[in-house]
Amino acid sequence: MTARNTGLIDPCLLAFDIDGVVADTMAVFVRLAHEKYGLTHLSQQDMLCYNLHECLDLGKKIIDDLIGLTLDDRHTMQIPPVPGAPETLMELAVAAPLRFITARVRSESITQWLFTVLPDVPRERITVIASGAPETKLGVLKELEIRYFVDDRIETCRHLKEAGIEPLLFDQPWNRNEPADGFIRVQNWVQLKSWVLPSGINLG
Ligand SMILES: [Mg+2]
Repeated sequence: MTARNTGLIDPCLLAFDIDGVVADTMAVFVRLAHEKYGLTHLSQQDMLCYNLHECLDLGKKIIDDLIGLTLDDRHTMQIPPVPGAPETLMELAVAAPLRFITARVRSESITQWLFTVLPDVPRERITVIASGAPETKLGVLKELEIRYFVDDRIETCRHLKEAGIEPLLFDQPWNRNEPADGFIRVQNWVQLKSWVLPSGINLG
């Protein structure tokens, strides 16, 4: 049984990761790599695994510096949204409250970022939980009785699927080389929207 052949995903049972799904976080990493280290050859297409230390031919200190900068409060506010995410989330927010579970340690700056990219969504319709680590997302999702979770990290998707939550793997260069594992792969936000809010369906 998949979302594709059963039609609708109930938006009340759906939640989202933020970085790499809603936020094009690695765009900032790439920009900083260009500006601070002159690594103008680097692009997101070079990020062929989630652990950048394993797939980028750069020193550990440089990668750690760029990750730290990318996730700090100032640069978080500069992250562009993933194309289509704000439009789809604004429509979904009418049908159900929006729940985001991030492995970030702190939720403040990324919550402010969401308020900025979703200006038409009432703030009380947006919940952000910072679980602090990918492994602790499961407990949060179980508590919130979430059935479907959109994430770009394949190890998280595996972990959730084993525990009975249906992962929707958001397509990114860093998860493309992994075996499919039977996951539902989301190509983009237009496709995801068509699984949750197909046109012509009145949710009443
Ligand atoms: Mg992510």
